[in-house]
Amino acid sequence: MIPHFVEFNYLCDKFLNLFSLFKKNKSVQASESILDLVGNTPLVKLQKVTANYSGTFYAKLEWFNPGQSSKDRIALSIIENAEAKGLIKPGSTIVETTSGNTGFSLAMASMVKGYKCILAVSSKSSQDKIDGLKAMGAEVHICPAHVAADDPRSYYEVAKRIHAETPNSIYINQYFNELNTEAHYKTTGPEIWKQTAGKITHLVACSGTGGTISGTARYLKEQNPSIQILGVDAYGSVIKKYHETGKFDENEIHPYRIEGLGKNLIPSATDFSVIDTFVKVTDKDAALAARNLAQTEGIFAGYTSGAALRATELYNDQNIFDENSVVVIILPDHGSRYLSKIYSEKWMTEQGFIEAEDLVETLEKSAITNS
Ligand code: PMP
Repeated sequence: MIPHFVEFNYLCDKFLNLFSLFKKNKSVQASESILDLVGNTPLVKLQKVTANYSGTFYAKLEWFNPGQSSKDRIALSIIENAEAKGLIKPGSTIVETTSGNTGFSLAMASMVKGYKCILAVSSKSSQDKIDGLKAMGAEVHICPAHVAADDPRSYYEVAKRIHAETPNSIYINQYFNELNTEAHYKTTGPEIWKQTAGKITHLVACSGTGGTISGTARYLKEQNPSIQILGVDAYGSVIKKYHETGKFDENEIHPYRIEGLGKNLIPSATDFSVIDTFVKVTDKDAALAARNLAQTEGIFAGYTSGAALRATELYNDQNIFDENSVVVIILPDHGSRYLSKIYSEKWMTEQGFIEAEDLVETLEKSAITNS
């Protein structure tokens, strides 16, 4: 015989379950559109890659944005700013220069909001990225990567020409648009400050347009001026030298493989005054660091994320961190955009980043596993 109080508890539980089910059905938990999911990306503590460094290290995973990169933030923010100013309305055209990620975010926002999207893309961009832009409905113009920025064939000049020739269009101009930097000032900075409960001591971030690093830095330094902003640049780019000397040195420029990092011009979107220092990384080291991140932490990140991790290692070698350091490393996009590059053993071997013997060994291993 079951005691009465047990029966009573059972009935109470049943009633509460039914009540909560009823409540859940009353409000569907969904976003109005994919664009509502932009921002509020997670921070994850690194357990292994930084285990031998001084301090605690966190990665901010920007591919949790719905367009899978940090560029969703600027695409949405700049488009909504243009809408608010009455510069565009459904049917207008969005034109941009892009290594891929900004284009994808703009194409995504254009699709939802009813704009046409035309993109001038560098020939250096991976085929995966170019295919993604087309799949998202964008018109893509591929321009040679290794020409001067003012060459009429460069992706800057091509985008400018398309904008001039297309009525009812806006040119996003991310390299020279202060709204790019402002988007990170308004979102990425406050998120990191909140997520670290104000404990962040160092930020490691790549610099392309410079919007991410300087917008985030500006916010963080306003909260605590002693936070150190550690930039990441590529060999072949002019950014680090310009930061140190104030001079644009053409001799620094040479072709390199990393997409989205560094530049052959000085973007006005970069606020150099809030960045403390830069290191440069090589194509090989950045690629190996990204592959290592996947194989140690299970974090499958893009090429510039590898650059940011390699830079963190170089900063650690310079004894910049101590045991009280709380370091946030921004990882801009996901590894799936680089399957035909840094995550292709064939490509890695062709570049000389891994030895042919390593590849033969891996192929033999996988042949045994698959047989
Ligand atoms: N990483 C990737 C993959 C990018 O596409 C970009 C943008 N060019 C960056 C880093 C650099 O970000 P930002 O332009 O905000 O400096």
